[in-house]
Amino acid sequence: SSGSAGTSGTRFDLDKETELRFEVEAGERVQLELLSGLGEVFGSELNRNKKYTFGPGSKIAVFTWHGCSVALSGKTEVAYISKDAPMLLYLNTHAALEQMRRQAEKENDRGPRVMVVGPTDVGKSTVCRVLLNYAVRLGRRPTLVELDVGQSSVSVPGTMSALCIERPADVEEGFSVQAPLVFHFGSTTPGTNIKLYNKLTSSLAEVFSQRCEVNRRASVGGCIINTCGWVKGSGYQALVHCASAFQVDVVLVLDQERLYNELKRDLPHFVRVVLLPKSGGVVERSKDCRRESRDEKIREYFYGFRGTSFYPHAFDVRFSDVRIYKIGAPSIPDSCLPLGMSQDDTQLKLVPVSPGRDLTHHVLSVSSLDDDAEVGAGQSRGILESPVCGFIVVTAVDTQAQVMTVLSPAPRPLPRHTLLIMDIRFIDLK
Ligand code: ADP
Repeated sequence: SSGSAGTSGTRFDLDKETELRFEVEAGERVQLELLSGLGEVFGSELNRNKKYTFGPGSKIAVFTWHGCSVALSGKTEVAYISKDAPMLLYLNTHAALEQMRRQAEKENDRGPRVMVVGPTDVGKSTVCRVLLNYAVRLGRRPTLVELDVGQSSVSVPGTMSALCIERPADVEEGFSVQAPLVFHFGSTTPGTNIKLYNKLTSSLAEVFSQRCEVNRRASVGGCIINTCGWVKGSGYQALVHCASAFQVDVVLVLDQERLYNELKRDLPHFVRVVLLPKSGGVVERSKDCRRESRDEKIREYFYGFRGTSFYPHAFDVRFSDVRIYKIGAPSIPDSCLPLGMSQDDTQLKLVPVSPGRDLTHHVLSVSSLDDDAEVGAGQSRGILESPVCGFIVVTAVDTQAQVMTVLSPAPRPLPRHTLLIMDIRFIDLK
């Protein structure tokens, strides 16, 4: 049921409980406008007669509970109406969680802690967004815990974070990211340093629990934890670890029955493990596509999103003014380890990095650790527990002059001088 809407694009009339799915072509933009009725994008309501713009590669669904008409203009790769969106199941899940929040309110207890799991590209982030939107639309204050180090919805890739949700996600930009708690992981896959990954998961759980103790609304709101798509071996163990660290009450397994059965077997019996279908609209993304969206995330950090432009600064930093570390020494055979040291210790070890040309293009996290805090030989305590206060990218290194040029969101000087290096590189083309 689509037709022409004249100069304003193509008109789509949607029946109740259907969704319009579309993908924006590479290098193109598409505008969406709600003409009549009510519609939402991943749980955020659309305003009538406002034009929403989506950039290249965006994959969007407009869902309607009651029916609506929308117009699309610009080049879409695909655009079709689907009658079998699993939104009703997601809404039921939300209703069950809301029931738990009401119960928590009555009994002075804590609200639901939910972990969303599944392989890559099954719509985990999207389900988190929908559930958070529905909760905040009812006046709740849920927390988003982002453990997907490859595709973080909160900060740059290579980080693990928590964000208190106070308003529905912006249709174009997602959740407003003010004052998130961000930890440095340093790479886009947990497998690079699983020990560190599990440790940071525990740190986030601890901070969240502390917040719940002093903030009743946060406690009742509970949390929704987004995880990585790596669900085998150590990746699976990391999920079990996360469930225990956060003491989750509910696990939503998207799409994979095998994972569902494993978690049912391995988690305590009071944890409700629920299998949910993935939406047919979720599109598999290629490696390149994922790399591009990671790059885009970093670019947004420095240059802002379409609506709000930032103007990053470039300046020189003297090697002698900073201390740079990498977390985790390369693993060496057990037999070569110093007496009394285990492999675990090497993964959490701080390794000083002497600045050289190979730093170029690397993303560095600026640790919030006090500049005069003692960082003992190989001791990462303090640094690991300190959140990150920002990121810079090394754009050039001059070994002769002993300085590096950095791209920074704020003008000189750096707020802190302890820097952590990421495996992740960003080439600034601007
Ligand atoms: P995961 O977190 O499991 O990797 P995402 O939630 O990021 O998966 O979803 C993958 C992609 O599919 C995203 O670009 C998202 O916008 C898109 N998507 C999710 N649900 C739908 C849908 N119903 N219709 C169209 N695209 C969708």
